[in-house]
Amino acid sequence: MRVSSSGNMLSHVGHTILGMNSVQLYMKVPGSRTPGHQENNNFCSVNINIGPGDCEWFCVHEDYWEAISNFCEKHGVDYLTGSWWPVLEDLYSANIPVYRFIQRPGDLVWINAGTVHWVQAVGWCNNIAWNVGPLSGYQYQLALERFEWNEVKKVKSIVPMIHVSWNVARTLKITDPDTYKMIKHCLLQSMKHIQILRDQLVAQGKKISYQSRVKDEPAYYCNECDLEVFDLLFVTCENSSRKTYVVHCEDCARQRSPNLTNVVVLEQYRIEELMSTYDSFSLAAASR
Ligand SMILES: [Zn+2]
Repeated sequence: MRVSSSGNMLSHVGHTILGMNSVQLYMKVPGSRTPGHQENNNFCSVNINIGPGDCEWFCVHEDYWEAISNFCEKHGVDYLTGSWWPVLEDLYSANIPVYRFIQRPGDLVWINAGTVHWVQAVGWCNNIAWNVGPLSGYQYQLALERFEWNEVKKVKSIVPMIHVSWNVARTLKITDPDTYKMIKHCLLQSMKHIQILRDQLVAQGKKISYQSRVKDEPAYYCNECDLEVFDLLFVTCENSSRKTYVVHCEDCARQRSPNLTNVVVLEQYRIEELMSTYDSFSLAAASR
């Protein structure tokens, strides 16, 4: 439950994500509502009411998020980015179980991976909250599923899952076979994508400039579609005098410039480096 620990994926991001791997304070007046949502990339969250008033919580298991998403669609509200407050009768008649409870001052609420929840302040209250990503198969799978769904929906994944997966593979020993298999698969897909892209660029005669990452360098996202851009960055210079560099994904870069003229391609890792990380990442024996 700690903000930072080695078993927490968010401690392997390498930089601060406000309110996720850092603590955020929420100050609420009676009746203040936090509309329905799942946490960013389906991560778990810890929420402590520091009073003086109570908070009322409504929670639904992850299994039912699509059913709730369908309710949103029916009402013309975007599930991921819109603001919505479920009608309890709708949920009951759809046989969706709802956990409803009061969080008194001093009470800690643990929101498990993917739990849909909405909250209202009964009295005046201050809450502190942060996210955690325990390295279990369930958490990793849900995080990756939401990463992919966000890509489909063109919504930014606040947790850069590819970057995190490589960092985890580099630094942690994974003992759970399911988690291990999923991470290994994600790394393989990532390497495949990079290799195909690289070959294409080389065949096209496009120069790739190696630029190693520096300490605390953040993960990158496409300026246009918010997709995480890992390793091969398509960079344009928006203002030559002020040196404003903008990162794009391949698709968006080609949309602007089909032959990538005036686009610099930067490579942040050597392919050998990624291959060696991939090869050395093996299932660790559980310590007894
Ligand atoms: Zn893009």
